[in-house]
Amino acid sequence: MDLLTEHGVRVETRGNVVSFTDEEDDLVVTTEDGRNFKTDIAVVSTGFVPETDLLQGQVKMDRKGAIITNKYGQSSDPDIYVAGDARTIEYNPTGDFEYIPLATNAVRQGLIAGINVFGNRWPEMGAQGTSAIELFGHTLSTTGLTYARALKAGFDADFSFFEDSYRPGFMPSTEMITIVIVYDKKDLRILGAQFFSKYDVAQSANTLSLAIQNKNTLKDLAFVDMLFQPYYDQPFNYINLAAQEGLKKEGLI
Ligand SMILES: Cc1cc2nc3c(=O)[nH]c(=O)nc-3n(C[C@H](O)[C@H](O)[C@H](O)COP(=O)(O)OP(=O)(O)OC[C@H]3O[C@@H](n4cnc5c(N)ncnc54)[C@H](O)[C@@H]3O)c2cc1C
Repeated sequence: MDLLTEHGVRVETRGNVVSFTDEEDDLVVTTEDGRNFKTDIAVVSTGFVPETDLLQGQVKMDRKGAIITNKYGQSSDPDIYVAGDARTIEYNPTGDFEYIPLATNAVRQGLIAGINVFGNRWPEMGAQGTSAIELFGHTLSTTGLTYARALKAGFDADFSFFEDSYRPGFMPSTEMITIVIVYDKKDLRILGAQFFSKYDVAQSANTLSLAIQNKNTLKDLAFVDMLFQPYYDQPFNYINLAAQEGLKKEGLI
């Protein structure tokens, strides 16, 4: 929020939008509590729905119209394989099938479906909803559940919080890095993680994506072998350190 405000973005999170009105050169956005915002352009980003009318009534779909497949990408009609934004995918943090319309899922499902039409040889691995965005010179990356979503999904969840320089202070420059790792208190299984830094932390979300898929725990992540070289990180990599914060919170180290 601070980053957006510092760059001249006015952030308003209250009030449902009820209308858009043209007014000379402006577009006026009106909220249900009666406030008006003058703007040049409005982008409505309330989510996606699958466009599956073509197969309505012919294959099984969820209540939003996303096609349900087995782990080989095969719909309820065995002659129809489905990939991409038209279908659901197994969401590994919860084990539920969810609608996660991302190109990363689409390309994997497409390739695997292409293999499986010649005989179901290659089961899918599911997804963590891993993604990243560059925001005013910062990277925000995420995989799996946030803390709020983990609680909503019914986990007895907690999170570790880590904030430090990504590499030693004796280097000519460094940046702060912020990491949140969400875990299940029951068995310390990793459920999600979020990264934020001026340093490029996009690939760190990929590392945690693999950890979630493999059902790794905080214990695994705290001490897994990761490289140290002062150009890149501290003697313990920041991912090790973030997991160790969780172990400290649990009184285990
Ligand atoms: C602005 C934006 C940014 C995004 N950025 C990212 C990102 O950074 N990373 C990421 O992972 N995902 C991103 N996504 C999501 C990503 O684009 C989609 O998940 C992905 O394109 C889905 O691929 P798809 O092949 O299933 O569908 P599409 O790419 O939508 O392709 C479907 C094609 O089918 C055609 N079609 C539809 N109906 C018919 C018909 N009846 N007959 C013939 N053709 C038909 C359509 O014209 C279209 O060409 C972004 C999406 C948007 C909108």
